[in-house]
This record gives sequence, structure tokens and C-alpha cells, in this order.
Amino acid sequence: VSDTRDRRASRKRRVRLGTLGEHGWIGRLLDRLPSADRRVVVGPGDDAAVVRASRRPLVLTTDTLREGVHFRQGWIRPAALGRRAFLVNASDVAAMGGTPAWALVAVEAPARTPVATLDRVVAGFAAEARRAGATLVGGNLVAGPALALTVALVGEAPGRVVTRAGARAGDTLWVTGALGAAGTAVARLRAGRRDRLPLPPRRTAAGVALAAVAHAMIDVSDGLVQDVGHLCRASGVGAELALDRLPVAASCRRMLGARAAAFAAVAGEDYELVIAVPARALGRLARIRRRLGCRLTEVGRVVAGRPAVRVLGPGGRHARVAHPGFDHFR
Ligand SMILES: [Mg+2]
Repeated sequence: VSDTRDRRASRKRRVRLGTLGEHGWIGRLLDRLPSADRRVVVGPGDDAAVVRASRRPLVLTTDTLREGVHFRQGWIRPAALGRRAFLVNASDVAAMGGTPAWALVAVEAPARTPVATLDRVVAGFAAEARRAGATLVGGNLVAGPALALTVALVGEAPGRVVTRAGARAGDTLWVTGALGAAGTAVARLRAGRRDRLPLPPRRTAAGVALAAVAHAMIDVSDGLVQDVGHLCRASGVGAELALDRLPVAASCRRMLGARAAAFAAVAGEDYELVIAVPARALGRLARIRRRLGCRLTEVGRVVAGRPAVRVLGPGGRHARVAHPGFDHFR
């Protein structure tokens, strides 16, 4: 019996997307997607999804993960790629104080892609969505030269909506979790070493909790220095970051030792949250911090003046950091 099952499994592994076709694959997928969300009036399979939103503000975002740009073959397992695609979008929703509700995924894949690989990508995505209380309500599949996932995520804000604008001189800057782990993994992978891209952290609950006290919030996708720079420009303020205060990930410290903090300050794809908190809210922040479920570290302050980020080294001296963070077109 197990011999038959093995043979059947290996045949299934060999089935390529080009054999099954767009409609064949989508048809199989639809049979497996659960539809427990009663707010979904029309789920996947029709021309468009229909949902019944509550009266809360909706938070909408979209983001793409593309092979050759965001990852290379062998850097990440298919299920983890699906999870990652959901989590990077959930990070943007969290950075506004929102919780994910409904997701759409547009998949681009070469015809030679094994069907089993794509199945795992979508299963990972759907599992991560479910964990966040969100439902996959639709998608699309097109043939293309490389694997790419474009996600549209709609969330709801249960409380305050917080933007990048609103930070004021005198606010303190705080960051969740740790920085530098993703950048370290990418550096090792690029150098041909064995590693895996770590999954982005799940910060939905933290984002909602921190939105209650934050003047401004942003998620760290392009590197702390660059993303705090975005926050400064939106708020019309400057910022100072203290290198020796950064919560540096253990893997980053192991790889870079004394240079780890300067690297973590500009490394991208950490997907942690940065908030600016006014002095009068620090008492409330201390109470929130205890039930946050992750670290929260004070890393600097907001200052008056032109929107620039000063990175301070030991003794408060100005420190140079390697490069200003990630930019797709540079
Ligand atoms: Mg963002």
C-alpha cells in the first residue's frame, strides 16, 4: 500500500502548472479553501469577492514578493514564502493600528512550476491569514517568467488609526522586537552560506495596543534609519537614534560582533514597529508594554528641525552608518 502511495505522491510532485492549467489549479484550490467567515458574502471563485464590512475604518495595503528581487530559489521554502507574503502586508496594516480581515493574492508563476510547490505557497498564506483572523477571499493566476505573489490586504482598525505624521519634538522613539536578523540571513545567503530567511514577526496585536499611545507609527521594512526618516518627513521633525540602545538580533551579533548595531540600524525586512510616544503617555506605555508579547525598546527621540535622522554612537558622538537602507531603484 505504501509503495502505491509513494508512486502516487511522486507522480503528483511531477505535475507542473503548465499541465494542470490556470483553471485546473484554481478549481482544485477552491475545493480546499474554508469559508467560515460570515462577513464574506461571496468568496473565491466568482468574478469578485463581496464582503460586509463593519463601520470601523478600513485599512488597505498591497505588496509584492518577487523571485530574483525579494528572494532567490532555495532561500525560502514554499509554505514559508506564502506565510511571508501575508505577514509583510499584515505588518503595514499593523503599522496603522489595523487588524487583517480579507486578503487577495495574485500569483505569477512559470508553467514549469510544480503544482505541489504552488499548493504549499497558498496553504502557507491561508494558514497565516487564518491565524491573524483574516480570510483569503480571492486571487488570480497568470503565467510569468518568475514566481511572484502580489497581495492585497484589507484590515479594520478597532481603535485609533495612527499614521507616520504626528510625531513631535520631545517624543521618544521605541521599536518592537529585535533588528538585523533578516539582513544577516540575506547577507549570508548572498555569500552562498546556508541560511533561511526568518519569518517576519506577527505584530498585529502590538500595533493595535501601541496605536492607543503613539503620536506616529511605521513598520521597519527598509531599515530603521530610512524608515524613521520617512516618519520624520511625514511629521516635519528630526530624530536621533542611539546605536548602543538598538535591540540587535542574536544572529546579527554573532555574525558582526562590534559592528552589529550599525548593520542592524540600516538592515531591511525586519518588519518591527517603530512608534513616537509623547512624554505624557509614557505611563500608559509602561502598562501596555507588560502585555505586549514582545520586546519594546527605547531607541531615540524626536527633535525639532529639518527632517533628518542623526545616528549617535558611544558618548553621543555622531556615528556613520554603512548605507541609508533599501531602495528598489538604487
Ligand atoms: Mg510600511
